[in-house]
Amino acid sequence: MAVPGLYTLFIMMVPAGIFGIHNHTANLAIDAALVVLGIIWLSLVYWTFADARRRIGDRVLVACAVVTAFFPFLGTIIYMIVRPPEYLDDVRERELEIQAAEARLSQIGMHTCPYCDQQVERDFLRCPHCLRKLKEPCSSCGKPLAGDWKICPYCEHDRGFDPTVTSPPRRRRTRRDPQETMVAPPPPDMI
Ligand SMILES: [Zn+2]
Ligand SMILES: [Zn+2]
Repeated sequence: MAVPGLYTLFIMMVPAGIFGIHNHTANLAIDAALVVLGIIWLSLVYWTFADARRRIGDRVLVACAVVTAFFPFLGTIIYMIVRPPEYLDDVRERELEIQAAEARLSQIGMHTCPYCDQQVERDFLRCPHCLRKLKEPCSSCGKPLAGDWKICPYCEHDRGFDPTVTSPPRRRRTRRDPQETMVAPPPPDMI
């Protein structure tokens, strides 16, 4: 695949005299021109590699772009025609902006249904698009409540969760244990 590139290198190595030109100055001029062309070609290969890395996430495709660029000049032109139009950084930035816009929408009160991804308002009890249950209404005031809330934050109605199930009282007792044993009355059989 890189044969044309190797050919250029070969031409660069061969003295210009092979073309039948024997004037020393002309030889030098042709050699210099070939060296310049070779440098430009190698620079274009590197430029293609650097540009492809910024635009293409797949390493195999980046390697393909570099191999194409080894065709002198034409390879880089072909790469410039078929390369992705956007830098990966720009794509990432746009995705972040979309996420930020969605976050802003959800703060305003609009967010998406977890089942069908359609826009719903925060206090919808049921999704109007897929008809799935989103929240439970408070049995006292009817406001929408999330599934894991223990009380209704609007009317303080107890939803039936047992608050003694939580462990803090037990922990307090264990912390007091040493003091309690010191103050505790002796067992009845010692009196
Ligand atoms: Zn839905
Ligand atoms: Zn309520």
